[in-house]
Amino acid sequence: MKLKTHKSKKLWNYSLKHLAGGVNSPVRAFNAVGGTPIFIKAAKGARLSDVDGNSYLDYVTSWGVMIHGHADRDIQAALCAALTKGTSYGAPTEAEAVLAEMIKKALPSIEKLRFVSSGTEAVMSAIRLARGYTGRDKIVKFTGCYHGHADSLLVKAGSGAATFGAPSSPGVPAAFARNTVSLEYNDIEGFLKFMKRSGGEVACVIVEPIAANMGLVLPRPGFLKALRKACSASGSVLIFDEVITGFRVGFGGAQGLYGIKPDLTTLGKIIGGGLPVGAYGGSEKIMKNLSPAGKVYQAGTLSGNPLAMAAGCAAIRKLSKPGVYKKLEASGAAMEKGLRRIMVKSGLPLTLNRVGSLFTLFFSKGPLENWTGAAACDTRRYAEYFWAMAERGVYLPPSQFETCFISTAHTAADIAATLEAAEGALSGK
Ligand SMILES: *Cc1c(COP(=O)(O)O)cnc(C)c1O
Repeated sequence: MKLKTHKSKKLWNYSLKHLAGGVNSPVRAFNAVGGTPIFIKAAKGARLSDVDGNSYLDYVTSWGVMIHGHADRDIQAALCAALTKGTSYGAPTEAEAVLAEMIKKALPSIEKLRFVSSGTEAVMSAIRLARGYTGRDKIVKFTGCYHGHADSLLVKAGSGAATFGAPSSPGVPAAFARNTVSLEYNDIEGFLKFMKRSGGEVACVIVEPIAANMGLVLPRPGFLKALRKACSASGSVLIFDEVITGFRVGFGGAQGLYGIKPDLTTLGKIIGGGLPVGAYGGSEKIMKNLSPAGKVYQAGTLSGNPLAMAAGCAAIRKLSKPGVYKKLEASGAAMEKGLRRIMVKSGLPLTLNRVGSLFTLFFSKGPLENWTGAAACDTRRYAEYFWAMAERGVYLPPSQFETCFISTAHTAADIAATLEAAEGALSGK
C-alpha cells in the first residue's frame, strides 16, 4: 500500500487501550473495509488531512453534517462570538427560538419543535411522543433504515415479512422488540396489507423518506404517499426521519422535495452546523402533549446549547441564500455523469443511486431499492475500492452501506479529480 499510515497505526493502538473497540462510534473502526482507521488531524473546506500527512477529498463530511465544508468561516465566526459569552446556562436563550423559527420556515409541517443533542435522542423522543399521543405501543419501521440506537429501533425483521421483530443487539429486551415491526422499504403492497390488519394498533410509522443508511436508496413513486394515506386512515403518527435529508436534498428536506407532510419530523446532523444537535417537531396538536405543556416527559441538560444554536443558525442562514442547492445539484449531477461513464467503461456490475448531493456506488448490478438488494452487494470489492480511492486522495465512507456526501466546498475541479481517481481505482491502474 502506498498510503503512509504509521502515525494512524500508533494512534489506533493507543485508542484501543482506552476506548471501547478503539472508537466512539462503530463504523469509525473500519471493520467493513479492514486495515487501520485513518486518524484525522485537521480539515478545511472539502479536504481532510490525516496525522501521517496524507490529504483527501472528503465524501463523508462528518456523515453529511458539514454541508458547507469544514472549518467554514461564517460558522466559525458565529461560534467565536457565542464562546465569549459562556457555553451553557441551563436556562432559556434567544438563539433557541431563532433557530426554531428558521427551521419552521423551511419545513412548514413543523408548528412547534424541541431541540435535543443528537439524532438518536430526537427519534427516541419523537417515538415516545407518538406513543403518548396515540396511547398505542406498536411502531413500524423499514428494514435497512437507521434511526439511531434507541432500544425500540435496533430491530430488523425477517426478510420483509410482517413478523414482529427480534432485537438486533444484545441488551435490547425482547419485550421491546416485540412492539417494533420492520417491513421491507419500498414494498407498498406489503405495507398496506400490514396496516389493513394491524393499523389500529400502530402508534407510528417511522421512515427515512430517502433511505441513506443502507447506501442511498430512493423511495419508489407512491411509497411515501401510501404511508401518508394509511397513517391518516389508522390514526397512526407518520414520522419522517430527516436527520440526513433535512436541509440536504433541498431547503425543505425530503418532505419538500416530494410534497408529503409528515406528522412529526426528526432532524439532526446539518442543523447543528458541526456541533451536537437534534430536533423533533410537528403539528401543535401533537407537540402540545410534550412536558411541560403536556404529560409526555423529555428533557436535556445541554439541549439548545448556546454554541450549538449559534453554529446551527449560521449553517441554516447560509443554506437559505440563493443558489446553494443549485450548486449542490450541479456537483451531484457532474459526479453522476462521470461515474456513469466510468461504470460503463469498467464493465463491472455496479449501480449508482443519487439525489442532489447524496450518492452511493453499489457493487451490485442492482437495481437497489431495499435492504435485500443492498445486502447482496459485493462488500469485499467495495473495501478494495475504498482503499484504492484513499491511496488516490479520496476519502469515502468506510462501508458500502453509507452514503457519500458532497458539500458546497467541493469544486468542479474536486469532482473531476475524484472521477479520475475512481477511474483508476475501478480499472485497477
Ligand atoms: C445519523 C442518523 C440518526 C442518528 O443520529 P445521531 O446524531 O447519530 O444520534 C438517526 N436517523 C438517521 C436517518 C440518521 O442518519
